[in-house]
Amino acid sequence: SPGDIKILLLENVNQSATNIFQEQGYQVESYNGALTEDCLIEKIKDVHAIGIRSKTKLTAKILEHAKKLIVIGCFCIGTNQVDIDYAASIGVAVFKSPFSNSRSVAELVIAEIITLARQIGDRSIELHTGTWNKVSSRCWEVRGKTLGIIGYGHIGSQLSVLAESLGMHVLYYDIVTIMPLGTAKQMSTLNELLNKADFVTCHVPATPETKNMLSAPQFSAMKDGAYVINASRGTVVDISSLLTVMKAEKVAGAAFDVFPSEPANNASGVYNDTLNNWTSELISLPNVILTPHIGGSTEEAQCVIGNEVAHMLSKYINEGTSVSSVNLPEISLKTLALDKENTVRILYIHKNIPGVLKTVNDILADHNIDKQFSDSRDNIAYLMIDISSVSQDEIKQLYDSLNQTNAKISVRILY
Ligand code: NAD
Repeated sequence: SPGDIKILLLENVNQSATNIFQEQGYQVESYNGALTEDCLIEKIKDVHAIGIRSKTKLTAKILEHAKKLIVIGCFCIGTNQVDIDYAASIGVAVFKSPFSNSRSVAELVIAEIITLARQIGDRSIELHTGTWNKVSSRCWEVRGKTLGIIGYGHIGSQLSVLAESLGMHVLYYDIVTIMPLGTAKQMSTLNELLNKADFVTCHVPATPETKNMLSAPQFSAMKDGAYVINASRGTVVDISSLLTVMKAEKVAGAAFDVFPSEPANNASGVYNDTLNNWTSELISLPNVILTPHIGGSTEEAQCVIGNEVAHMLSKYINEGTSVSSVNLPEISLKTLALDKENTVRILYIHKNIPGVLKTVNDILADHNIDKQFSDSRDNIAYLMIDISSVSQDEIKQLYDSLNQTNAKISVRILY
């Protein structure tokens, strides 16, 4: 029953998540920070779900103690901090929130476009150090300028709408053909976009194809005096080549929110050439804005993440729905009418080997299977079955029989 479900929330997961879990009737234990490894091992033994952000490392060493764990919620964008393959191998689903901060990133980029066009960063640094330097030379309005968006996904497309509302023309390049929003236009090649854009902004994922996607040949294809923005991933722009074109005044300014290597935690005085050998050169150039990967860091985004991940976790706990899981096959059946007498839902995560469906269906042979849905992902498979005509006594028998099957990784029966 919901009252038996224990949720452990670490690292100050947003209150919106706690509210949702409490509405479900779950027991919630929250901590503002991360726990030490020993403490985490102790706590994880007893909980059905754990919610973390980026600092808690859920390694195989820790997860092997998680005997009751059903699901992990990463209340952030990435899942590098979790051994998601190990979690799948013990039948634990992992969820994250990939897109809840898209608007925040798009707004940051709008701020950067205007900041670069008006050289606001430099004027502010100067005045902080006592220099009054009122200039209008090579400062521009953004109205009527062309924004080139590389990657027209969740962030790129939101940015497109915001930029048009400022009176900018929008061009975009994407490997997929995507319907334009507003009056934006898709370019068939990256070079076409680079030839025409006054501002070039990257919104692609880190993949082998996007590594150094903007490098010397792409910079030379840009208009003289163009600006470059990267709030996607640090691998996408070749900073050494950018330094060369900035020194030659081919590129008039750049904004970076992401870097090839980034510190794991906040710290002062460490982000220097020991991490990136170009840092000192970059900060010596005019009109360069550097921010510490804050694109998605807003109160609103944290609240949306809290809601989104808590809903995904509750749906997985209550119904077994694994849609959007990062490590299990995505399975969903219509919401189960648990109040319907003698109806149960079986959630069977198993090794992806031949003969499993036959074994399971033999066990269920005397019952009426209302619905059945199965899918696999690499060596893990997930089978969801709604059956009727099951008496309370039979539930335990079914559970024991399914538990004894060779391919079983985990079994839950909802009733
Ligand atoms: P998304 O998956 O919604 O969109 C990415 C788009 O890039 C897709 O349309 C895809 O087709 C396109 N694409 C992929 N490979 C391409 C290629 N080789 N050439 C051209 N287009 C290509 O992703 P999103 O949510 O819009 O995020 C975009 C980027 O922003 C990601 O790298 C993400 O990690 C990053 N991000 C950064 C922050 C931050 O704090 N700065 C926050 C959130 C996301």
